[in-house]
Amino acid sequence: MKKGREMFDSVIIGAGVAGSVAARELAEAGRKVLVLEQRAHIGGNCYDEKDEHGIWIHKYGPHIFHTKEQRAYDYLSRFTEWYEFGHEVVANVHGTLIPVPFNLNTLHMVYGKEKADAMEEKLVNAFGMESKVPILKLREHEDADIRQIADYVYENIFLHYTMKQWGQTPEEIDPAVTGRVPVLISYDNRYFQEPWQGMPLNGYTAMFEAMLEHPNITVETETDARNRLEFTKGQVLFDGDVFWGEVIYTGPLDELFDCRFGRLPYRSLNFDFEYLNQEDYQGHSVVNYTISEAFTRITEFKYLTGQKAEGTTIVREYPFAYTGAEGEIPYYSIASEDNQRLYEKYRELLSGIPNVYLLGRLAEYKYYNIDAMVMKALELSDKIRLRL
Ligand code: FAD
Ligand code: UDP
Repeated sequence: MKKGREMFDSVIIGAGVAGSVAARELAEAGRKVLVLEQRAHIGGNCYDEKDEHGIWIHKYGPHIFHTKEQRAYDYLSRFTEWYEFGHEVVANVHGTLIPVPFNLNTLHMVYGKEKADAMEEKLVNAFGMESKVPILKLREHEDADIRQIADYVYENIFLHYTMKQWGQTPEEIDPAVTGRVPVLISYDNRYFQEPWQGMPLNGYTAMFEAMLEHPNITVETETDARNRLEFTKGQVLFDGDVFWGEVIYTGPLDELFDCRFGRLPYRSLNFDFEYLNQEDYQGHSVVNYTISEAFTRITEFKYLTGQKAEGTTIVREYPFAYTGAEGEIPYYSIASEDNQRLYEKYRELLSGIPNVYLLGRLAEYKYYNIDAMVMKALELSDKIRLRL
């Protein structure tokens, strides 16, 4: 009988979106797949569960699935039905709640009808109805009224929130980050404009359980892969012996090599959950605190999941710089030329090992949404399958 590593054709490190999709794809291609996950559960940062009060929460912050990619939507739909809704966010600006992204509804709330009508005309003439304009681009506009709007949006929506989230100003960070939430020249209050948005009907965890439920997949949780695998001298050692099957790594690349060139910088978050014995806390799923408070946003889960429950659970998010201390989780890579150079230096260490693949938000040091991650995992699996 085969034992240990001989039982497996492929090893996948991490049971988040990236690892779970790849595991399922390789399993369906006939590979015997071992998934190693250091946490006590699958699903990575998408993991959800009921808290002790029976309220359904997202343990690592609110996750709303949104996509225009038919393939990603169809793929996940094999493992779940959907609770579909148009996700909306408001910002608390000096106590008043205004729709975010800033859009024409927000414009009218802030400036009143007469002025807003005139400004709307200028915006539509300049950019076209239904267009999206990144804040940093809007600020460069030649028209003084448009710049006035841009300054309002910059000061009241982006500056302080970005300082909290990144410890840097909007100008200092990669423009693609603030570009995720452009000013909308439309009356659409939704946070995302993609055709499919919502949540797995029975939660992310159930969806990933269904995905990993396959006779060719074995999942071991509470297992740090670094105790089983070693990447050295052009080879992968698995429990001490050379392993020739494919290895897909979805964790932080620097930590695979004991951070020998220094740590790759990440932002992390502290999640402060609170159960309140009351029907409602804020009447919205997500309120961004764009001016005040040390936290960035409060999520009230029952408005996100549609759950009917007595009482309500909220979570506040406090960003900080990841240090690698025990218990901290690296959530956001920080895009910059220096950081990319450091990342490439680590990647070089794997360049002579053809059966190792880097996949995921951490391993690729990129800011992926769930749908983009599904697409990347499917594409990598396609590539691996062609080589089998
Ligand atoms: P992860 O989910 O991080 O999974 C990686 C897994 O690898 C983890 O489970 C980790 O424990 C494991 N691992 C790492 N190292 C090891 C090791 N050495 N041994 C064993 N296991 C290891 N996307 C959206 O589309 N919509 C949203 O609303 C949204 N909201 C978000 C909110 C927050 C606060 C954050 C941080 C992200 C959000 N995202 C959202 C992005 C989404 O979380 C990611 O796209 C997705 O989780 C990426 O999946 P992944 O598999 O790459 O990473
Ligand atoms: N942002 C902001 N104010 C807001 C919402 C977003 O300043 O009210 C900025 C901030 O820098 C944030 C970025 O836009 O990191 C992207 O926001 P998004 O909601 O996409 O971030 P996520 O939480 O999904 O990573």
